[in-house]
Amino acid sequence: MGSIELFGEYQYFLITLAALGILFFSSLYATAGQDNLFGPLWLLFIGVVLDFCANGAAYRGVVAYAAGKSINGYVFTELLLLLLAMVFWALAAIRFIINNVFLTGTIVSLGVLGLLAIFLFIFIIPDGNVVNNMRQIFPLAGFACLSAGFWSRSSQEFKSGSVLTAILTSLIALILIGRFFGILGAAQTGVWFFPALFYILLSLSEVMMKVDSLRQQLEKSTQELDKYNQKIEEIIRMSPFPIIISRVGDDRIIMANNNAVKLFGINPRELERYRLKDFFADSDNRKLLTERLENEKEIHDFEVLVKTPLSNTPFWLLASVNIIDYNYDVVLYSAFQDITSRKNRENLLKNQAIRDPLTALYNRRYFEEEVNKQILEAKAKKQPYAVLMLDADHFKNVNDTYGHKVGDKVLIELATTAERALRDNDIVARYGGEEFVVFLPGIHAEQGKIVADRLRESISKQTVYSDSNQPVKFTVSIGVSSSEISDNVDTLIKTADEALYKAKQNGRNRVEVFTSADMKKFMSGEQVEPKDESQNHHPVFDKENSEEISLLDGVETGQISNETPQIEEPSSKKESK
Ligand code: GH3
Ligand code: MG
Ligand code: MG
Repeated sequence: MGSIELFGEYQYFLITLAALGILFFSSLYATAGQDNLFGPLWLLFIGVVLDFCANGAAYRGVVAYAAGKSINGYVFTELLLLLLAMVFWALAAIRFIINNVFLTGTIVSLGVLGLLAIFLFIFIIPDGNVVNNMRQIFPLAGFACLSAGFWSRSSQEFKSGSVLTAILTSLIALILIGRFFGILGAAQTGVWFFPALFYILLSLSEVMMKVDSLRQQLEKSTQELDKYNQKIEEIIRMSPFPIIISRVGDDRIIMANNNAVKLFGINPRELERYRLKDFFADSDNRKLLTERLENEKEIHDFEVLVKTPLSNTPFWLLASVNIIDYNYDVVLYSAFQDITSRKNRENLLKNQAIRDPLTALYNRRYFEEEVNKQILEAKAKKQPYAVLMLDADHFKNVNDTYGHKVGDKVLIELATTAERALRDNDIVARYGGEEFVVFLPGIHAEQGKIVADRLRESISKQTVYSDSNQPVKFTVSIGVSSSEISDNVDTLIKTADEALYKAKQNGRNRVEVFTSADMKKFMSGEQVEPKDESQNHHPVFDKENSEEISLLDGVETGQISNETPQIEEPSSKKESK
């Protein structure tokens, strides 16, 4: 940039210096975090500074010449700086195109040769023409290298920025050629603001290069993300488990693999029509999952009760749910495993543990546990409750007359009648052989008696038929105890049994209530109104029965398994208690 006039004018010099400062800061900005721009742009900047200084030296030479002093030192400095600028620009171009060691070596060697030439033509065989030519050829070579370098990358990642630099440097190279041949005036003349303009335009193109590079990086990472998502999709599709991806924002399904499509019976072409919540059969179950997801980013082995849009029969799945980023969305990644058969087996085992196999009523152990809990609740809420103890009347006769099978039929009929006659939240259990026990929450002793009488009556209206189709009628006696008597399950059962004993004594097929007056006698160890000493045994707690009563008491196991009775499925509401 052979423009030395600016060194003569204070303000021109400052403006050019400011432009150089701008170039410095734009180099700083453009190279930050951009490894591929760092080398070339700083080499370019150093070259620019050297060129600027060379012009300064040239100006000092002109001044010294005018004063009639020796100018060799200035000319030497000027040419040396121009030579170095050329070397740096050439290196910048090489670094920009390709980091080539051979080319770098060549440039450095050329620099050394240039240095020798400068020394030779200034001090050994001084030649003004050669010096003048070198003064023009060095920058020309430098700009030629730069323009080649920037053109070479103009179609790649630094598009617009390198095109602008390429145009700029080519233009300068052309001007320098024009001057060299004297077409554009003398080499040392120029317009003072050319360098400043060059620095500003160069700054602009460096910023553009940075922007280009950032855009390129974004594109690259977008492509990588797409590739990554494609890979995920492939893995999901191939999974042997049903997998669903749903957006956290609106719960819409955005991806479902083949297994999930089959399992949930959804249309794979209209995934977005479905929401994940459509597949939950139990809103509480879903709420629990959502609550857990608020605290944990991933959940494993969560049991979900689901349904499909086509059928309303719910089934159990084991779900693992993760919150992940997918296709620029925050999504739920849910993988499922069908555990319906396992769940059924579990339910069966659970039922086996808490139910009596003959009547499908709860067993005694479950009754005692559950009633214990309910008594605590009732006490807390100050609510009453009653307990009924039922015993089939003269049941031995049924067995003896019609056989055990018919006896079993009667027991099943008793159980179903009791279940039907009572409310859903009453607990009916088979206490022993032909004894049943009932817990009636929210009910006082007198109401308990009314319920018991109604139950007794409906039982007495039932009929079962013997193998020879003979009608078999049966009745029960019922004892009632209540929260007015005790809050202890054992005592409640014992006192209900006392009342049952009274009912048996008073003629059977009747209900008796255990009263507070009875309690006093009971506490003192007396029997409650024994009428007939000869029949003085307790239906449930007599001597022979004092050991644990097995569920199958009095039943020969063979007889049960021979004929599995068709029993009504107990209502599921009860089971969940
Ligand atoms: P009471 O009116 O005094 O109660 O007379 P009862 O004949 O019912 O007398 P008890 O309670 O002593 O007799 C109960 C009988 O019930 C004895 C037993 O053989 C019979 N039993 C107990 N469990 C079963 C069962 O699961 N199936 C059948 N078929 N009979 C049973
Ligand atoms: Mg009996
Ligand atoms: Mg009995």
